[in-house]
Order: sequence, then C-alpha cells, then structure tokens
Amino acid sequence: MKFEELPLAQPLQRAVRTVGYENPTPIQEQSIPSLLEGKDLLGIAQTGTGKTAAFALPILQRLLDSGKFRQPKTCRALILLPTRELAIQVEECFKQYAQYTAISTACIFGGVSDVKQKNVLIRGVDVLVATPGRLLDLIGQKAVTLKNVEFFVLDEADRMLDMGFIHDIRKVVGMLPGKRQNLFFSATMPKEISDLAATILSANPVRVEVAPQSTPIERIRQELYHIDKRRKGALLKELLSSHEEMKKVLVFCRTKHGADKIVRVLEKAGIKCAAIHGNKSQNRRQEALGNFKDEKIRVLVATDIAARGIDVDDVTHVFNYDLPNEHETFVHRIGRTARAGKEGVAISFCAPDEEQDLRGIEKLTRVKIPEGDKSIYDKLPEQQKETLESELRNARGRMPRGQKGGRDNRQSGAGSDRRADSRDVADRNEISQATKAKFDWRKHQADKRNARAAEQARENLQLGEGRGDNLNRRTIGRNRPGSRARKRMREQAAASAAAQALLSKVK
Ligand code: AMP
Repeated sequence: MKFEELPLAQPLQRAVRTVGYENPTPIQEQSIPSLLEGKDLLGIAQTGTGKTAAFALPILQRLLDSGKFRQPKTCRALILLPTRELAIQVEECFKQYAQYTAISTACIFGGVSDVKQKNVLIRGVDVLVATPGRLLDLIGQKAVTLKNVEFFVLDEADRMLDMGFIHDIRKVVGMLPGKRQNLFFSATMPKEISDLAATILSANPVRVEVAPQSTPIERIRQELYHIDKRRKGALLKELLSSHEEMKKVLVFCRTKHGADKIVRVLEKAGIKCAAIHGNKSQNRRQEALGNFKDEKIRVLVATDIAARGIDVDDVTHVFNYDLPNEHETFVHRIGRTARAGKEGVAISFCAPDEEQDLRGIEKLTRVKIPEGDKSIYDKLPEQQKETLESELRNARGRMPRGQKGGRDNRQSGAGSDRRADSRDVADRNEISQATKAKFDWRKHQADKRNARAAEQARENLQLGEGRGDNLNRRTIGRNRPGSRARKRMREQAAASAAAQALLSKVK
C-alpha cells in the first residue's frame, strides 16, 4: 500500500512526502482507515512502529474535515503522554504532519515555568500534547478546559501506569465531554491496562496489534560481554575507540550517578557525550537530546526513566551498560536502534551479579545473546590496577593536609571532576607511593598518640595526681582492642598506678 491510496488531504500527503515516508507501516495501514471513519481504537504497539503517524494523520484529517474552530483556552485534540520528552517528540510529529495546514499545536509538561504554556493556551489550540500532572495543574488554574475535546489519545498507557499516573488519568478522563473519539495505545496489555482501556473506549473499539517485540529483536545484531562491574567503563571506552562505525550510540545504565560517571570516563578519552537523567534540568536534557539528534555528540548516556522519551532516528548502537532488572525494559531499550527498517546493534555488559537478569532477558526474548569479540578483554587495563586505584581513592580521602592527593587537594579546584581526572591518570607508581604514604601517615599518627599518652603517664607519675585510672579508661577506649597502641597504654597505665601506690607508701 502507498500513502497516496489513503484518503488523506493534499496538505497531509505533501507533508508525508516531505518527511520522506513512502509506504505506511503495518500499524498505519491497519489504523488509519478505521480512525478516519471515527471509530475508537485499541492499539497494542510500542514506539518504533510508526504509531505516532498512525494516530496523528487521521486526527489531523478529521480536524480539517470538521469545519470547527478552536476557542480560547480549549483544545480539540488531546494527546496524553507519560514523559516530557515523549510529549515534545509527539508534538514535533504533529507539527511536521500539519506543516501545510493552519492547524495549531501546543505542548505542555512539568519541570519548567508554566508562563509560556499558559500564554499559548489563551487563544486555544487545535492539538494539545500534554503530560498529566501539568495538564491538571493548568486546568486547576483555569488556563485551559477540556470541554471541547473531540479526539482523545492515551499513549504509552502501560508506562503511564508504571509511573503512577492512574489517578491523574482518571481525573482527566472524567473532565472530557461524552462525545469524542478515543485512541488507546500500550506496548503491553495486562489486565490492569485492558480494564483502564475499557473505561475509556467505546464498547467495540477496533483492535490493532503489531508484534514489535519479535520484529526489532530479529533485526538487531546483539553482542554480549561478561565483564566485572569495575571494568565496564574501560570496556565501553575501548569498544567506542576501536569502532568508528559506532556513530550514534545510546548507553543505558541503572543510576543517575552511574550515568555521570560514564560521561566522565568517556570525556576523558575524548569521546563527545552527555547524560540525561532525572537530576538534570529540563533544558539540559533537551540540549543533550538535541545535540545527540544533530550528531554534535556521539554518545548519549541515559537512565531508563529518562530514556522512555527518547525517540531518535538512526541510533546505530545501543549499549546495556547495566542490565535492567525489569526484563521488558531490555526490549524497550534495544528497540531504540534498528528503527524504520535500518540496521542496529545492541551490546550488553553482564557482570557476575547480573547473570540472573541475563537469563530472564534471554528467556523473555527467546534469543540467546552471542558473545562479542573476546580479544577485547586483552586490551583492557588489568583488574588489579582498578583495585589499586580504589585503594588510592581511600588513601587520598584520609591523608593529611599538604600531602599529595590529600583532602585539601581534593577539595580545591574542580571538585569531583578533578578527583576523577586524578584517578584516571594515576599510574601504578603513583598508587603505590600514595599507599605507602597512607601507611606512613597512619603510623606517624599512632606514634604521636602513644607519645602523648606516655607523656601524660609520666606527668601523672611525677605529680602523683592519681589520674592513672582515668587515663586508662579514656585513652584506651580510643584505640582498637588488641592494637599495639592499646597494649602499650595499658602497660603505661599499670606502671602509673604502681608508681602512685609506691608514692603513697613512701608518704
Ligand atoms: P513512532 O513509532 O511513531 O515513534 O515512529 C518511529 C519512527 O518511524 C519515527 O522516526 C518516524 O519518523 C518513523 N516513521 C513513521 N512512519 C513511517 C513510515 N511510514 N515510513 C518510514 N518511517 C516512518
């Protein structure tokens, strides 16, 4: 089937040609005709299948056909999505498809000032793409009402529920007018989701299911590396440095802190990259995503929550730096590559404590992930070095002022970056010197303490103040049981007590 065969108006056909689509994807082919007839739709599909155009094009067509006009502080089509990134991307799609029409669009999401969003809504919009929290917030402020909604789309319903939006969704649905066309999309359809769908859709919606979970996985070339947690950074660096064809790379990891750490390691190796995660401001996230899309940076490091909104064309490689606990997340992650018929590679790192996750993922996807290039392990720095490096880190944390890498040095300058830099440049000699310095310094401190205690004991003995027992209790308590310092102090305290006894006899 060709797009020209679909009953879409000329401005939409032209827009489709402009964005470079030739044939509708299966979900578009199955959904667009029914949606143009005004039917409700239940779509089981995930991103990467072309589902945005599957609902956007017929909605735009029907908005053009209806002959109604937008009114102030209202919208005619409402698209609800779980994340800001996804909302922005879907609005971008609507804008692209509506570029030769007078249809207006707006996007509202939290985490940024609402002033601009409210200004846009004053005159009303045709298509409003929103995340639930900010939408309810602006409804509460009377910046927008849902009384004129003719088309309602709930996208990524399973993600919405995962992210705890169920109450917000119910509130929004309760505010919609009774007469409307509903579209409901979800990648998975457990009972909870189908129950929700039943409360939103009409009695007999058209059901469209595309099988995304098997299709992309078959197209994606996968590789697996068994690697210790502490060597993952070095492996990633090595793979990126030795493979120029890794041009647009998404790296997934579990934690925000981990994402920042990966960025530091890669930047040190001269690889242009950025991280997006929940601790970054919305502007920083958009900037990073924009730079990645425009290929100004080669690597984008993301946590799963942030990644939910990522829709970037032509991602060549996806790295699972950490394997996800939720096995379905793996499918979502690697589905970011090999889109729209393109080639894609997914590379997974598996640490010994992730073996169980790996088995779960292989079971879910019914794919045994083949091992990657084993010769790469020989190119990595030895593990021992990393052990020594961590020793160096500990040593630096405890060394006295003025010593190399000591606390003062750590706190001055560029903070954690500086620390990471110095870690990376540390060679074996430096490490062993620092380790030696650490032990020298500890010994020096212990000697000083002992000398002070001995001095005190001598004073007590000379003055006969009877402080031997106090000294015994207070100073011994500061030292570890069984330590040499403690033993020595016991001896000194005993000597002090004996001396006092002798003195009292003499008196
Ligand atoms: P989606 O599933 O809507 O997130 O779309 C995934 C990607 O497929 C987006 O980059 C779209 O631009 C692209 N796409 C959507 N429909 C088509 C089509 N008919 N032909 C080629 N690419 C498409």
